[in-house]
Amino acid sequence: MSFKVLSAEISHETNTFNIHPTTLRCFQDRYLLKGDQAIAARGDQNTELAGLLDVGHDYGWLVNHVISAAAGPGGKVTREAFDTLVGSLLSAADKDWDGIFLMLHGAMVTDFCEDGEGEILRQLRTIVGPDLPIAVTLDPHANATTNMCDLAQILVSFTTYPHIDIRATGRRAAELLQRTMSGDIQPRTLRFHQPMLEEANGGRTDLGPMIERHALARAYETRKGVYAISINGAFPCADIAEVGPTVLVTCDGDTAEHRAIGSTLSKDIWARRHEVLNTYMTSAEAAQIARDWSTSAGPLIVADYADNPGAGAYGDATGLLSALFATKVRDACFGPLIDPAAAAYLNTHPVGAKVTLSLGGKTAPAFGGGPLELTGTVKWTGDGRVVGSGPILGGLERSFGPTAVLHVAGIDILVVTIAHQMLDLKQFETFGIDPARKSVVALKSMQHFRAAFAPIAGRIIVCDSGALCTLNYGALNYQNVPRPMFPLDI
Ligand SMILES: [Zn+2]
Repeated sequence: MSFKVLSAEISHETNTFNIHPTTLRCFQDRYLLKGDQAIAARGDQNTELAGLLDVGHDYGWLVNHVISAAAGPGGKVTREAFDTLVGSLLSAADKDWDGIFLMLHGAMVTDFCEDGEGEILRQLRTIVGPDLPIAVTLDPHANATTNMCDLAQILVSFTTYPHIDIRATGRRAAELLQRTMSGDIQPRTLRFHQPMLEEANGGRTDLGPMIERHALARAYETRKGVYAISINGAFPCADIAEVGPTVLVTCDGDTAEHRAIGSTLSKDIWARRHEVLNTYMTSAEAAQIARDWSTSAGPLIVADYADNPGAGAYGDATGLLSALFATKVRDACFGPLIDPAAAAYLNTHPVGAKVTLSLGGKTAPAFGGGPLELTGTVKWTGDGRVVGSGPILGGLERSFGPTAVLHVAGIDILVVTIAHQMLDLKQFETFGIDPARKSVVALKSMQHFRAAFAPIAGRIIVCDSGALCTLNYGALNYQNVPRPMFPLDI
């Protein structure tokens, strides 16, 4: 018998401090694809959908994939966008399905509800009832809520940051769905939580305590009745009640043994919360190192952690750029600088034109620096479409929208319209910038950049420019998180 499986991808990481609402247009800007389009564009890359299709193919499932939708991390999702996206899932749900597979980031906040994914599942359960098997994949930056765990039997998160095992995670979750639909197992998911904003040692899985936690989790998964253990560093830029790191244990039964597994891992996150894995420099400190960098070792990569568009920062902070100008860094590139007006203006000029303009810093100058008045030479203009080549984005398309490269005093500045963090070399190379040949590569990203940029780097340093995703959480006005909360109070 072929199982009939309904699937959908609705993905958003909501930074509740970002003033720009996430509208349907924001989803269209990243991707909003109907089933067949989604399978054509995303069915054979590092995606949950590819993992689902791998397993579905192995077991002869009849998969009805209705939608793949994701917007760049940003402000709260509007009710119109939520209802439109979820509506396509709900309207397909009222049939005779054997199981449902959902690809959810797990950190969506809407303008009417703190727990976007819990609300998706709640609405879905009103149609399919309490017992139909539902498997969910999560990003480990999920703020996994009690409702999410109560409403889906199976929740499985990526185990890597940078997220290079997305397809493998899709496979793991789909295998568990197969076993559940066939009656082999009867899983549920237990949740263990810590009152922390800081995302468990930066969420890093390439070094530090998370390596040991994941090794322990994989060992626990070999025990009878334990099927998946997810460790979520969570997403701190969400002023919601259920923010914070979680350990999810997908298992048969709420037993003392299963609780001990989740509790052990979760308590370790708390106990080792002070183990900081990045040295966060100021922009000025980073610029000093950049000035003195010897090119022979390979480029110095300077990551602006705080202005990461991949966490809902505006991506237009200028603090690091102005610090690089101040130290007269040469042979550098910087990107992306999210400034739609500047990108549009630069696109009215031919390559080679000398242009004076106001760049960046327009959204929230108090966070990371205000506009810079610059004169430079236009080096590239056009459409910002990129097809990735690296471990995260290989074969997947992203678009920066109208894009330009402006050369100012030794620095190639990538000026774009649609926000993305820098996580693939193609995001520079497509626009005539070869980061491997630069002395200094300044980019906006927290950790994902390492997957593609570590292999070309002479050294990597990280700075906190004071932009919206600053680690100085006291600069943000948290009102809804429970107190006491680490590191605000503890
Ligand atoms: Zn993530």
